[in-house]
Amino acid sequence: MRTWIKDPLAIFAEGAGRGVIVEGTRIAALVKTGETPERIDAVFDASRHVVLPGLVNAHHHFFQTLTRAHPSAINKPLFPWLKSLYPIWSRLKPHHLRLATRVALTELLMSGCTTAADHHYLYPKGLEDAVDIEVDETLGLGMRMTVSRGSMNLSVKDGGLPPDSVVQDEETILADSERVLKKFHDPNPGSPIRVALAPCSPFSISKNLMIESARLAERYDCQLHTHLCETDDEEQFCLDRYGLRPVDLLEETGWMSSRVWLAHGIHFNAEEIARLGKAGIGVCHCATSNMVLASGVCRTCELEAAGVAVGLGVDGSASNDSSNMMEAVRHALIIGRLRYGADRVTHLKALRWATEGSARCLGRTDIGRIEPGYEADLALFTLDELRFSGAHDPLAALVLCGAHRADRVMVAGEWRLVDGMPAGHDVGALIALHKDFARDFA
Ligand SMILES: [Zn+2]
Repeated sequence: MRTWIKDPLAIFAEGAGRGVIVEGTRIAALVKTGETPERIDAVFDASRHVVLPGLVNAHHHFFQTLTRAHPSAINKPLFPWLKSLYPIWSRLKPHHLRLATRVALTELLMSGCTTAADHHYLYPKGLEDAVDIEVDETLGLGMRMTVSRGSMNLSVKDGGLPPDSVVQDEETILADSERVLKKFHDPNPGSPIRVALAPCSPFSISKNLMIESARLAERYDCQLHTHLCETDDEEQFCLDRYGLRPVDLLEETGWMSSRVWLAHGIHFNAEEIARLGKAGIGVCHCATSNMVLASGVCRTCELEAAGVAVGLGVDGSASNDSSNMMEAVRHALIIGRLRYGADRVTHLKALRWATEGSARCLGRTDIGRIEPGYEADLALFTLDELRFSGAHDPLAALVLCGAHRADRVMVAGEWRLVDGMPAGHDVGALIALHKDFARDFA
């Protein structure tokens, strides 16, 4: 079955003026301006649509959709914010996580996202199947996901930040990491599910857990992920506890590798940026969350110039507090311009971060571009809303006028969002149930 996505209003790809041909799960060909393809089975008229590669969200915490705008946490920086939320999060049950995952993924899908990376690091008693739940929900919506098997083993009693109720011991963490890698991790091109190992952050994990996680990642050929250099508090913690800056901690634990992508990556010095680039590390820039928690501004342009893969993420829904990937693109552009001036962070650069850049963070070369051989993951937006009225450059309009909702989303050649709604899912019923759960939970 060859489907021609025909005559888009604009498309984020070179040499595809008349659209793309999708065959099976992949992009089979681009159609140049002036050409007409042969052997076509179906045509989708895209003349109202701006076509992007499916957006890739490289950092999230789905469970946090249950504590959006929570009165105990709003208006606080990272450490006090975390300390206010940990006791609430420790009550997380499997049914909460299942619905929170569905809400976050649905919201992402509606914003044009086709692949997400969730970092789940919370394991109170009874939530041992967290990864299984997230995989199940992802497949139910027909999306792709890198499920990051997060972990915390350094609680208050050992000098860490989280309470005892949400951490596990190292042996349990490593055994479950291996279980989920064996059960779900598929490193092949086109795979719907990949697993990454993700010790949470320097102030909630032991050095040995980082070392052992890196060894497991090597053995199972998977990515490694953690929060790093998000705030000055974190840097001070590393200096006090280890006598090391956070990047030196990476070096000491075997994490200076192209398997690694870091969330935030704000407080690096110039010498560290060069080392990260040389190692081929990825950094997921979470502009909205960094602004909300006033953590600082990621040095995206210097990182990219050094060879670091820069991607974008919405971050958890308690520090964003929404899961909208198009909004993340706009915020990355705006905060980038504040730092670098109006000409260096263009709308095309911001869109590239949210697609190819995020895909590189996740170690994927099969998604993030509209090119023959890549997976047919596409996000189609119309410019029919009032906010776009009178806009001239369609691709720039998506970012500058603030596109929020995709009209159609295709994942692996299948339409998963039609007329702005997830196919086969009732968003109204989902909101009603999630509201009840959030009230009961928090
Ligand atoms: Zn995070």
